[in-house]
Amino acid sequence: MSATTTPPAYDDNNVFARILRGEIPCRRVYEDEFALAFHDINPQAPVHVLVIPKGRWVSLADFSAGASAREIAGFWRAVGHVARELGIEGPGYRMLSNVGANAGQEVPHFHVHLFGGRRLGRMLP
Ligand code: 5GP
Repeated sequence: MSATTTPPAYDDNNVFARILRGEIPCRRVYEDEFALAFHDINPQAPVHVLVIPKGRWVSLADFSAGASAREIAGFWRAVGHVARELGIEGPGYRMLSNVGANAGQEVPHFHVHLFGGRRLGRMLP
């Protein structure tokens, strides 16, 4: 199956790249060699945290094709760790990633949203 549009190249000036470089502040929740987690600036739930890999990846497809197995494992391990540390694992939470124009991805650096802290309605799409 062929793609109808070409995915964007990585933009080093996107806001998450700038957060990673320390040029823009964030409310950091967790950081390790593979991932950075921080509170969303415009929270949509009592807990709304973004987890981003440290590499230059726009989408999950980029990340899973281009990152090493160690980076991929480290990133997802960090996502799980953050969910546990935030205390949302027990009551439950939602993990979401917007990819590309159809999903309204605003920031072109691959990221996972974690939403929790209240009952979240059903949201399939
Ligand atoms: P997307 O639509 O790309 O999945 O979501 C991007 C998210 O990044 C949005 O929820 C938005 O509120 C958040 N965001 C955009 N700019 C900043 C920023 O400068 N700092 C933080 N902490 N979050 C941001």
